[in-house]
This record gives sequence, C-alpha cells and structure tokens, in this order.
Amino acid sequence: MRPYLLLTPGPLTTSETVKEAMMSDWCTWDEDYNIGIVEVIRKQLVELATSRPEEYTSVLMQGSGTFCVEAALGSAIRPDDHLLVVANGAYGKRMGVIAGYYHLNCHVMQFDETQAVDPKEIDGYLNAHPEVTHVSVVHCETTTGVLNPLAEIAGAVKSHGKVLIVDAMSSFGGVPVDMAALGIDFLISSANKCIQGVPGFGFVIARRSLLEQCKGVARSLSLDLYDQWETMEKGHGKWRFTSPTHVVRAFMQAMKELQIEGGVEARHARYCENHRILVEGMRSLGFKTLLPDNEQSPVITSFYYPSADFDFKAFYYALKSKGFVIYPGKISQADTFRIGNIGDVFPADFIRLIEAVRELNIKIG
Ligand SMILES: *Cc1c(COP(=O)(O)O)cnc(C)c1O
Repeated sequence: MRPYLLLTPGPLTTSETVKEAMMSDWCTWDEDYNIGIVEVIRKQLVELATSRPEEYTSVLMQGSGTFCVEAALGSAIRPDDHLLVVANGAYGKRMGVIAGYYHLNCHVMQFDETQAVDPKEIDGYLNAHPEVTHVSVVHCETTTGVLNPLAEIAGAVKSHGKVLIVDAMSSFGGVPVDMAALGIDFLISSANKCIQGVPGFGFVIARRSLLEQCKGVARSLSLDLYDQWETMEKGHGKWRFTSPTHVVRAFMQAMKELQIEGGVEARHARYCENHRILVEGMRSLGFKTLLPDNEQSPVITSFYYPSADFDFKAFYYALKSKGFVIYPGKISQADTFRIGNIGDVFPADFIRLIEAVRELNIKIG
C-alpha cells in the first residue's frame, strides 16, 4: 500500500491503520457516526488546541484546507471590518486573494519570503491603522518552511485588542500551541497535515463567544462557518451536507495514533529529529538550506539547487525510484526544492534518504 514515502507538505504518508479505518461505510444520521465519531473529534481538537477548552469550540468543514481559510475569513469579517493580512509566502498571499473575492476591506503587509514576519512591524502598522479589526497570519509558511514567531505576533495583535486568525494548517498537531495562552481567536488546519489523516476536510477552532456572533455574516452558503457549527452543535455532530465519512473515520484513528505517540510534544520531537537528520545529512553532501536555522520549522525544508545546471526533474525521478517523493520549490527569488519531515515518517527513513541522495553523486557548485 506504500510504493513510496511522501516527503511533501501534504497529503502525507499515513499509517496502514489510518488507511484501514476507511474500510467501512457509515450512515451520517446514525449516532455511531455523529456522536461516536464527529463529536469525539470536535472535542479532542479543542483539547489539543488549548488549555482552556471551555472557551473554545470547533467546526469541521468539507474540502481542502483553503476551504476552511475561506470559510473563516468569509464568516468572521463583516463589511465594515478591516482585515490586516500578514504575508511572507504563498499561503499568506492567498488570504489576501480570498479577501478580494469577498470584497473585504483588506490591508496586506508583505514580508520577504525568506524572512520570518517581524512582530514589531505589525505593532507599528496597528498603531498607524486603528481601523484594523482583524489580523490574519500563517504560523508555518509551507512555501519555504519558515516558522513565524506566533507568540510575539499574538502579543502585538492582542496588545491592540484585535481579533487574531491563524492559518496553522501545516503546524497544528506537530508544533505545540495554546490558543488561550496566546489569545488566538480562530485557528485553521486540515486533516491531512500534522494530524496525519487523509485529505477531504479541514477544521476551524474558534473562540466560542466570537463564533456565536457570526450568524448571518457569511456570503457563501457552503462555506458558512457559523451555520455549519450551529448544525453540528444542535445536531450533535450532524453536518449540513454530505460529510466525508470515511475520511472522518480515518481522522479519528489518526487522532488516536497521535495520542499513542505521546501527543503533540512527542510528535514535535520526532519531526525535529527527522529535520535534524535531513539537514545535517544534506549539508554533509554539500547542499545548502534556504533559511537560517533560527527561522526554520521542523515541518518542511527548502534547499538551494546545488549548481546552476542542476536537473530537478532527474533528481526527483531518481529519488522516486528509490522510494522517496520530494517537492519542487515555490519561490521566485531562488531555485529551490523542498523536503517535508511530517507524516508517518521516522528518523530511520531520513537516514535512508540521505544514503539515497549520496548514491546519486550530485554535482555541487
Ligand atoms: C496546506 C496548506 C494550506 C491549504 O492548502 P490546501 O491545498 O487547500 O489544502 C493552507 N495554508 C498552509 C500554510 C498550508 O500548508
């Protein structure tokens, strides 16, 4: 069931047991599904996200991660509000694009893609622009693998009393976060990243008191986060429209496996070890990372092409034939490729990967 490992930003390599959990059919209105699976997941997600679960709630939403980002922005921001999008990569930029579709009052603070976001500049912007009501930011910018300093960003946003929306798509479940401690109001992620489920839905964890005020704000029926939440709350795990039942069941298994591993701290430690072996190994072969170590997440790493005539396609297919699928780069300033550290992949896999790269005898410089 595993022709190769996916060392990508998602979907990821999943365990056999997560895949096996999809082998039965579920009735969406039966309590085996609603109460036995959906409500369990919703509660566990809140507990994973914060030390004060009573202040938060969660909504599951069909589609990929972007559907949930769009649902959150489109359901929480009113016509008179002002959104400040903090962007240092493709996913930050995408939030600005969503704001455009919804005709939101939107300010975009553009940072360099190879640098972490600077909280001091956000503070300065908010001093100059008191009309801003909401700030959105990406935690781990998967475009490069940069980890934005979430605690400091939240500190700046909260000192101005603004609503904070975090795209934690590629970090949630793999990098510890406490929404209540940081003051995060909405946090968005999806099934197929660090929780290690399969793709098909995403979720938003929200401050309950704020989500309760979002009735009637959405300008999209399918992506009305409030309506989806109200149906799940009142219907005890009921989805408004067909839910991806098999994917949701697989997700419950993935949550169980996260707990067995030792929770987010233990998973974070494994990803960090995967990352350490990858970077030390690649550097020993002459490759250079795009980012300085202090801005780098353990989620995904960008490497420069090792020479001007480097053939990425050939490298890609050579590694694929050895059992590893990697990812192209996504920035314009430099030629890079990316290798992910997340999913059901372990330090031993990265030791084998480095051996595989070594055997290719890639020309450096
Ligand atoms: C994966 C990802 C998304 C969502 O992408 P989809 O292709 O819609 O699932 C959004 N933001 C970040 C930071 C991501 O890594």
